[in-house]
Amino acid sequence: MAQVEFKNVVKEYHDEKRGTFTAVSNSNFVIQDKEFVVFVGPSGCGKTTSLRMIAGLETQSSGDIVIGDRIVNNLHPKDRDIAMVFQDYALYPHMTIKENLSFGLRNLKRPKDEIEKKVMEASNILGLTEMLDRKPKELSGGQRQRVAVGRAIVRDPQVFLFDEPLSNLDAKLRIQMRVELSELHKRLGATIVYVTHDQVEAMTLGERIIVMNKGRVQQIASPSVLYNQPQNMFVAGFIGSPAMNFMDATVEGGKVHLEGASFALTEAMVKALKAYEGKKVTLGVRPEHIYDEVFAEKMSVAKINAMNATVQVIEHLGAETLLYFRVGARMVTARVNPETDVRIGQNMTFIFDQNKMHFFDPETEERII
Ligand code: ATP
Repeated sequence: MAQVEFKNVVKEYHDEKRGTFTAVSNSNFVIQDKEFVVFVGPSGCGKTTSLRMIAGLETQSSGDIVIGDRIVNNLHPKDRDIAMVFQDYALYPHMTIKENLSFGLRNLKRPKDEIEKKVMEASNILGLTEMLDRKPKELSGGQRQRVAVGRAIVRDPQVFLFDEPLSNLDAKLRIQMRVELSELHKRLGATIVYVTHDQVEAMTLGERIIVMNKGRVQQIASPSVLYNQPQNMFVAGFIGSPAMNFMDATVEGGKVHLEGASFALTEAMVKALKAYEGKKVTLGVRPEHIYDEVFAEKMSVAKINAMNATVQVIEHLGAETLLYFRVGARMVTARVNPETDVRIGQNMTFIFDQNKMHFFDPETEERII
C-alpha cells in the first residue's frame, strides 16, 4: 500500500522580512494507492512545499504525514521509500547514462546483477538502451528528462514525486512527454504525486487534482468535476482556458439581470438562488458556452438567453476564434467557430447556454450552483 496522507499539515517559514509566513495552512488529503494526483496552482501557492514535505526535504511545522501505513514525520528522506524527479533533472554530468541510472542502487550496495537487470528494464521502458554509454550533455532535453525518470524507476519506490518535470522542455516535447508519463503510470501501477503550475498539464495527467491558492487547498477532485462543479471563483477561473467569464448580476423574479440582458434560469437555479432574491450574485460562464447565432442554431441551443453586444477585439487562433465584448465594466470572451464572419465594431447576438451558467456568492466567492 502506498497511500499518502496529510493530516492537518501546516508549514510556516520564518524570515526577517515577512516574519512568520504560512506557506501551507492546514492541509488535509488522502492520495490513494496507485493514484496519479497533481498539485496545481499559481506561483507561491505552496505546492512545491507540499511535495517536499512528502519527500522529507522540508519538515512540517505541525500535523502528520503518512506514507503507506507509517507516520513518516521524523523519517529521513532516504527511508521514506519515495523517488523524486526534479525540474532540472539533477543528472551527474560526468557519469554516463548507465552510471546515472545505477547510481542510487550502487549506493545502496545492491548486488550487481540486480542493478544490471533494473537498469535494463528501465532503459527498455523509456527507450534509453541506445544511449546508455553517452553523457547527459550528449542527450536532448526530452532524453535527459527520461533518464531522470529512469533513475526514479530503478529504485522501485512506493511513491514517485515529480516537481515540474516538464517545464524545461519546449511546447511540443512537453505534450509528447505528457503522453509518455501517462502511459508510464499505467505500466508501473505506482502512486504518483506531481506538481505543476500549468492547468492543462494538470487536467491531462491527473486522475485527481489538488488545486491550491495562497497556501490553502481549494478543491480536490477529478478534472471533469473541477471543470463542471468548481468549488469557488478561484478554481472556476484557474481551470479552463480561456478563463471563465465573471459578470456582476442580480437575481430577481426567476431571472438573472446583468447589464444589457436578463436571462431565464433553470428550475434548479431558481431553487438554489432563492436566498439571493433581490441580491447581487456573480454569474460565471465559460467562453466555450457563449455561442454565435449560427452555432446555437446548429447545436439546437434554445436562444432564450441572448445578448446584443459590440465586438471589441478578435483573436484568430486557427481552430477557434475568440471574440471580446463588454458586459458592464467587464470584458467577456466568447470562443466561437473560426468560420464565423465578424469584424471589430460589429454588433452581434451572443447566446449564453442556460445549462452552463454558474453562480457565485460575491462575498465568499463560493459557488452557489
Ligand atoms: P512555484 O510554482 O513558484 O514553485 P509553489 O506553489 O511551488 O510556487 P512554494 O515553493 O511551495 O510555492 O512556496 C510557497 C511559499 O513559501 C512562497 O511564498 C515561498 O516564497 C515561500 N517559501 C518557500 N520556501 C521558503 C523558504 N525556505 N524560506 C522562506 N519562505 C519560503
